[in-house]
Amino acid sequence: MGTDCLFCRIVAGEIPATIVRETATTLAFRDIDPKAPTHVLVIPKEHYADVATLAQGDPGLAGELLGTAAVVAEEEGLTVDGFRLMFNTGPYGGQEVFHVHAHLLGGAPLGPMLCR
Ligand code: AMP
Ligand code: ZN
Repeated sequence: MGTDCLFCRIVAGEIPATIVRETATTLAFRDIDPKAPTHVLVIPKEHYADVATLAQGDPGLAGELLGTAAVVAEEEGLTVDGFRLMFNTGPYGGQEVFHVHAHLLGGAPLGPMLCR
């Protein structure tokens, strides 16, 4: 995918990010506009547009992404009080960056899942 994709450019080191964890296949970095006291994005380094494409194309990598999210949740001190892990997908899901990313949110009560 490369230069057209913001998160591929973060993986390539072309755009700065506050990286909190990196594995051979995944990267976790702080969201630039945090919606909670802790807001980390977890991505596969390889480009997949969304979580459905990732899960169907490489289920092992999807599992590694979840594993990285779990380790970051632990490192950020979120596991006792809990956290939310969220994949916005497609236009109805409010996805804005089409390189799959899990939002790891926590550090305060997050309220209801959706506002009606
Ligand atoms: P989504 O709406 O699920 O696609 O979420 C995209 C997220 O990426 C938003 O929460 C943005 O604040 C975040 N974001 C956009 N640009 C950057 C960036 N350069 N570094 C870190 N996070 C970003
Ligand atoms: Zn990408």
